[in-house]
Amino acid sequence: MANPDPRRADDAPVVEVRGLRKQYRDGTVALDGVDFSVARGEVFALLGPNGAGKSTTIEILEGYRDRSGGEARVLGVDPQHGDLAWRARLGIVLQGSAEADVATVRELIAHVARFYPNPRDVDEVIAAVGLEEKARTRIRNLSGGQQRRVDVALGIVGRPELLFLDEPTTGFDPEARRQFWELIRGLKGEGTTILLTTHYLDEAAHLGDRAGIIAGGRLVAIGPIDELGGPQAWVPIVRWRDAAGVHEERHEEPGRRVAELVRAAGAEPERLEIVRPSLEDVYLGLLGESADLEGVRA
Ligand code: ADP
Ligand code: MG
Repeated sequence: MANPDPRRADDAPVVEVRGLRKQYRDGTVALDGVDFSVARGEVFALLGPNGAGKSTTIEILEGYRDRSGGEARVLGVDPQHGDLAWRARLGIVLQGSAEADVATVRELIAHVARFYPNPRDVDEVIAAVGLEEKARTRIRNLSGGQQRRVDVALGIVGRPELLFLDEPTTGFDPEARRQFWELIRGLKGEGTTILLTTHYLDEAAHLGDRAGIIAGGRLVAIGPIDELGGPQAWVPIVRWRDAAGVHEERHEEPGRRVAELVRAAGAEPERLEIVRPSLEDVYLGLLGESADLEGVRA
């Protein structure tokens, strides 16, 4: 694949999808018009509940599934027509775990490294995923979380420009998740573009530059993590109690509202609090809205 002007390629999005649609053979519409792009060097998190369409999206972009409609470009190439040279620039960690294998950790990683033109050092990769002590262990004798680390090792050994991670830390204990986050930050520091799916909000918040929330095959929000859903979604809530019961109001300037309340009551209202929505509040709010819309459409 000739690349006529490398400078241009550098500013072009690494991933670009427009109107992406997928209908499975049984009639399930898994994606119903999804648009987003991922810039070079960015970590983009695709967030959403089970069945939202995250894996379908990522598998289409990896070239594993054909789309039913819309446009897709990955490193400038239509993933339905990606060749081996294109594939060598990708790192892929599928949602499913590595086949339990009789090969050892080191053997398998070294084997896969040979398929790439410019692989990372095998021992460096083993260290990066925290498997030094298991390097000579057969993969089938590893725990589920350790096998998942092997998946990640196989995804990064080819020094990918673009790394796809489909729910990489499902089944990890908190410490393993922290270590994995460090690894991802390191890869980002080296300039790797990363598209990750997760249903852990804290993972998206820790790793993502931007995120898209997907539900029912549609993106319900996209943007920098702390701006998802627009300013409206992040307006603070003022809550207090009086003789009439518990009140809850959203205010752009909660301090002013509190001052008014104090003035009116002549004292600080009971159980007064100002709550800033967490990412979880915003996420659940957006999913609730999209479910309401779904109800209206149905
Ligand atoms: P997620 O990864 O967000 O959990 P998926 O992309 O796996 O979601 O699935 C999206 C929808 O497509 C779900 O309704 C799922 O049941 C359906 N689906 C996934 N794979 C297939 C398949 N091979 N055949 C039919 N339906 C599928
Ligand atoms: Mg999935």
